[in-house]
Amino acid sequence: MENRIERIKKQLHSQSYKLTPQREATVQVLLEHEEDHLSAEDVYLLVKEKAPEIGLATVYRTLELLTELKVVDKINFGDGVARYDLRQEGAEHFHHHLVCVECGAVDEIQEDLLGDVEVIVERDWNFKIKDHRLTFHGICYRCHDNQKEEEKEE
Ligand SMILES: [Zn+2]
Ligand SMILES: [Zn+2]
Repeated sequence: MENRIERIKKQLHSQSYKLTPQREATVQVLLEHEEDHLSAEDVYLLVKEKAPEIGLATVYRTLELLTELKVVDKINFGDGVARYDLRQEGAEHFHHHLVCVECGAVDEIQEDLLGDVEVIVERDWNFKIKDHRLTFHGICYRCHDNQKEEEKEE
């Protein structure tokens, strides 16, 4: 994790930004919650535990900066809340999401899986693909298992 912060620091420096203590606290929270999809407010509450003097506006600006630098991706699962998701290091494309409509869980698929689709899109639409967002909406395996259990009990 230390190394990751060092690399993010370099990335900021290369764009003439400094990793101030507030920015570092924000990055740390994102790293500690890598699997989560936190809103700006979630991040703010967690950063406040490390840096009590920090304001929501600072956290918000930091998240916007990190988005611009492609350290994080800003996503929206259709509930109107912007969430911040740490980008996998070295990933060419953004990972996919499985959003459960029953329990709200968000799982991730790191494999790209879209190679064939991208070839078709680039060829038939003459479009150079740089990235993509793919969110599946459905019922997760946990809810699926629960439903099966309930059926058994009935
Ligand atoms: Zn994600
Ligand atoms: Zn579920």
